[in-house]
Amino acid sequence: MLGLPYFSPKPPASPGCPGCGVASGSKHEWGCQNEQCPFCGDKLDGCGCIFIPRPNSRGLNPLENEDFWQEIVDERGRIPFGSEDTVAT
Ligand SMILES: [Zn+2]
Ligand SMILES: [Zn+2]
Repeated sequence: MLGLPYFSPKPPASPGCPGCGVASGSKHEWGCQNEQCPFCGDKLDGCGCIFIPRPNSRGLNPLENEDFWQEIVDERGRIPFGSEDTVAT
């Protein structure tokens, strides 16, 4: 025992999402550019799924209502960081 503070080095693996910083297996922060769309498998930010009419839209337009769009994606099932290849087709 030398009485000196001991700093354990951080593991270099699993640096987390480069966009929002979540660990592998966790859901991205909403709006992260690296999140994958659970509908089409493309980037959620910029894919065309937001334009598709929703049967339960209650008159809401996801283009004008970010909360509604998030609700749609949540219902479908968000894809956690690191699970991008397991999306169902
Ligand atoms: Zn992210
Ligand atoms: Zn999509």
